[in-house]
Amino acid sequence: MVICFQCPDADDSSEDTKKVYSPLTLEKLAMQRLLREEALAISALKDLPHLLFPVMFEEAFINGHTKVLTAMIPVWPYPYLSVGIMIENRNLETLKAMLEGLDILITQKVRSSRCKLREINWRNEYHDVTGIWAGSHELLPRLMTQKQPVQNSPGCGVKKELKVTTQLEITEGRLDESDRYLFQWAQQRKDSIHLCNRNLEIQGLTKATVIEIFKFLHADCVQDLMLCHLSIEDFDFLNPYLRQLNNLLNLTVCHITDTLRMGDSDMSLLPPFHCLQKLSVNESPYIYGNLKGFLRCLKKPLASLSITDCNFSQSDLDCLSYCSNIFELKSLNLDSINLCDLLLEPLGFFLERVGHTLKYLGLESCGIQDSQLNTLLPALSQCSQLRVVNFNDNDFSLLFLKELLHHTAQLSQLESEAYPVPLECYDRDVILKHRLEKFCPELLDILRANRMPKEVTFETSQCFNCGGYYIYDLETESCHYEI
Ligand SMILES: [Zn+2]
Ligand SMILES: [Zn+2]
Repeated sequence: MVICFQCPDADDSSEDTKKVYSPLTLEKLAMQRLLREEALAISALKDLPHLLFPVMFEEAFINGHTKVLTAMIPVWPYPYLSVGIMIENRNLETLKAMLEGLDILITQKVRSSRCKLREINWRNEYHDVTGIWAGSHELLPRLMTQKQPVQNSPGCGVKKELKVTTQLEITEGRLDESDRYLFQWAQQRKDSIHLCNRNLEIQGLTKATVIEIFKFLHADCVQDLMLCHLSIEDFDFLNPYLRQLNNLLNLTVCHITDTLRMGDSDMSLLPPFHCLQKLSVNESPYIYGNLKGFLRCLKKPLASLSITDCNFSQSDLDCLSYCSNIFELKSLNLDSINLCDLLLEPLGFFLERVGHTLKYLGLESCGIQDSQLNTLLPALSQCSQLRVVNFNDNDFSLLFLKELLHHTAQLSQLESEAYPVPLECYDRDVILKHRLEKFCPELLDILRANRMPKEVTFETSQCFNCGGYYIYDLETESCHYEI
């Protein structure tokens, strides 16, 4: 717990908080005018240029012109229609309007030659833009770069004329009304429509809902699963269902509690997953003493492991160095796992083993001390593929931080590096800004002696009073306050 001595006044006029007003485009204005008369808008569809379909659909969607939405579906001139998760007015009425349009399309004897529609994506979490997208969600540029490992995701194998993809959320044990409607609608048209759920979220368990959903769900379609607010007893019930998810790629679990206080258990919590690539665990008391059993669900080398805000016992850390299927990791994130009372040799062995593949290493807020650092350094220098490291918010003195930098200076692939400021930058608990300005240039010189660093920061801990912190970065070579 530190304070920054003189908390600068937070600057209310900061650019981030200013709202950016963009003028409406001419296209949008023209659409809004046209949509004032729905009948006219619908009759204009036959002459509407392809390029204007997404704009018009978006305007009609946001402003609730449901008749226009229904009319647009049977003549949609693109193979895909994706509705971003952030779009305004995404509710049961707009969903019903779209499904009515699909009903017209299904029952038409002769289809409009213009219609190319094959897939509607409802509730697309990867859709960053708030609006309507006329491309496949799998082709979104952002998805390709940031949301790996879905990039090679194959089609789900179910071949039907029309597909509706959605992400299914069971929150507090219940489905929301749009999901429930969509489910029942698709069920009644299962000969012509494939309802494809790539994402499944179970937040809190109601057995009846899970039973109902798995009656209709194509379990092979699910690639992303999130399990939240469950206790380990819930898994006795859930596991026969989870076992059906043969193509699961990404699993996130958070807030899993160990009400039975099993501790130090070898027992597997989850069924085996045969193609899992990414596993994330967050704020789950269950992990303490149980990591070994938990990792038994892996049946294939994992690409990304993230365990954050959990407590580790020594046996949890030990098991990293001998659990199979985690030795080809590209990304390891152990942020906010308190390691200060543990022996870090097993973590060193582990880093040695993943040194040929590891590209990302996150050890922020792990409470690592000087005396523990030496055991990690030899292994760290072997991680020659590392692109990103984050050691923020650990307790290193100047001497040991320099030692760390002498090692990372050897890692020629590093693109982004985050370090804590040395302990000498605090006087008891007060942040001494001028000391950052004194030490950080020296520290940067250690890296520069070996290579051209690209992105480097040295950060203080957060001020207990104002939540702000000081950061010294390579780009400006100066110290500034951030909040
Ligand atoms: Zn402060
Ligand atoms: Zn599918």
